[in-house]
Amino acid sequence: MTIATPPAWSVFKQIFAEHWDGFQRAYPRYDRRYYDGLVAKMLGCGDPAQMGYSEYRCLQCGEGTHRVAMSCKSSLCLRCAKVYVDTWVRQVSQMLHDGVIYRHIVLTMPALLRTTFYQQSQALLSPFMRCGRRCLDDVFSRISGRPLTGGYIMVIQTHGRNGQYNPHLHIIATSGGWDRQAQQWVHLDYVPYPMLRKKWQWHLLTMLRQTVKTSEIRRLVDTCYTRYREGFVTNVQKGDVPARSQSLARYLAKYVVSPPISLRRIDRYDGHRVTYHYRSHKSERVERETVDVYTFVGRMVQHVFPKGFQRVRYYGVQATKTFAPLKRMIHDALAKVKGIITGAIKIIAPVTYRQRYQQSTGRDPLRCPHCHAEMGIWKIWHPKYGVIYDELEVIKKGKYASQTSRADPAGSPGRTLWSTA
Ligand SMILES: [Zn+2]
Ligand SMILES: [Zn+2]
Repeated sequence: MTIATPPAWSVFKQIFAEHWDGFQRAYPRYDRRYYDGLVAKMLGCGDPAQMGYSEYRCLQCGEGTHRVAMSCKSSLCLRCAKVYVDTWVRQVSQMLHDGVIYRHIVLTMPALLRTTFYQQSQALLSPFMRCGRRCLDDVFSRISGRPLTGGYIMVIQTHGRNGQYNPHLHIIATSGGWDRQAQQWVHLDYVPYPMLRKKWQWHLLTMLRQTVKTSEIRRLVDTCYTRYREGFVTNVQKGDVPARSQSLARYLAKYVVSPPISLRRIDRYDGHRVTYHYRSHKSERVERETVDVYTFVGRMVQHVFPKGFQRVRYYGVQATKTFAPLKRMIHDALAKVKGIITGAIKIIAPVTYRQRYQQSTGRDPLRCPHCHAEMGIWKIWHPKYGVIYDELEVIKKGKYASQTSRADPAGSPGRTLWSTA
């Protein structure tokens, strides 16, 4: 899909077009087909001839046309990042249960461990997420004195504000958990920090020691215990998140799915060095940083996850199948402690391509500029599959149902290879 293109986008592309080969030679870790593919897709993003497109045409006067390029969906593509955020928000919103109180918890690691996680990301990132879940179940169980299973939507984030490698977990956690034995939902008003910090330290270090069994790691783990006697840094959003934030998912998206360095933060590129700015957590001010171009490319690609890696995971009672039968009981339990909770979370309606275009240009892209009738889909073309016209998809979207049978040049029914959304 097309998105209004900021000038920084061409700068960003230029950086990769000019330096990707050199960067790979300098950092063979990235000399892989997988990364090449992501870069190639990103460089072709927005070009209908490379990416494929859907074409709309005015079926009333036949004059107006509008072509929408497919998005590349490369995790390196800053142009598609906005679309990605919207998709993410929609996904997560659907997983949040109305009336349930959630907390936003952040679990971090000390700088000392980051290099290890970077070098062994393939082996460590999944266990890292799983031990976040184990840690919270453990904390909830300890506080309540009974074995509890919480519900967690967990997202891993690998960068800090300045784009450096700093893996941490953002968790939307239920405020309490399910006691399977007693068949009861136990609400927990509050999570004690000191306990959370120490438990997190223990779970993370134990996972690390069991996953990477070298003497070097054993020493590192020991150092972490002596140096961080209070445990690792964790963060619990005070109060109930939904009460503070109407749209929890939108609020989280800012932390969670933003690119390491976004387009609007790139200030200058002179062929060798890149200058960008960011808002620092520490100083609460805008900081500027100039780095050589390989460092910049490295800061972007080091955050690409291994192929097929699931960045968002649903654990415990948050998993859909488990949640449905529990919902009633969770509601009843919460009603006792909090009164009746309604509308705790606002579900955000998905933003479509059309709305996005309208928001950024003030013009409805699908209205014929000649006769002002609504244009209908005419053709969908994909670089690999050629002309595809998916009648089923179009009918699902509703609006073009009446035109599809006429305008279907190549559609084999039921093919869902490609959707424009
Ligand atoms: Zn893209
Ligand atoms: Zn027209």
